Amino acid sequence: MRIARLEEYTRVEGPGRRTAVWFQGCSIVCPQCCNPEMHDPAAGIEMTPEDLADAIVHARAEGLTLLGGEPLDQSDELRQLLLHLRNLHYQDIIMFTGYTWEQVNAERERASVAELCDLVIAGPFETAGAPGRRRWIGSDNQTLHCITGRYLELVADWPQFVKEVEIVIGDNEMLINGTPLAADDELAGLFMQKGE
Ligand code: SF4
Repeated sequence: MRIARLEEYTRVEGPGRRTAVWFQGCSIVCPQCCNPEMHDPAAGIEMTPEDLADAIVHARAEGLTLLGGEPLDQSDELRQLLLHLRNLHYQDIIMFTGYTWEQVNAERERASVAELCDLVIAGPFETAGAPGRRRWIGSDNQTLHCITGRYLELVADWPQFVKEVEIVIGDNEMLINGTPLAADDELAGLFMQKGE
């Protein structure tokens, strides 16, 4: 499977201290996507579902967030990853997908991945509804789907009007995690100048 990034710990991609995996490759290509470098399915790094599951479990975070790129463009491999994690009793899995909930359920492969998550946040990023009012979610059109009961309370009382980012500084790069920023935001401008 092609992965753009693995962040062992982040506090801005869902509740608690989470591991986040950004998938490489996206066929949806929303206008103003904040991760255009993750559209090319040939870029990124190759990992087996087994190795990625081991890395996620090793991080020992409070949960996992899958995002991208488009996770469901690699449904087969993602399903294998989630089966490994569930066999290892891993809990708290949230997936962001740019497909609408109807599109997820229209294809058996996509639906079978969704069934292995605890919460799915579905729908493309839409600038008209961005940055939106909900914490961790890019635009207001995106819909929430509890697959298990784990996030029922959170979904019933979703935090509003909180937007946050986390800056990760590496040897040769600066990355920003968190909710997409408005195009005219100063920090977004800085991010783009850095050739993110
Ligand atoms: S689905 Fe996600 S990664 Fe793909 S274009 Fe839309 S916002 Fe970007």
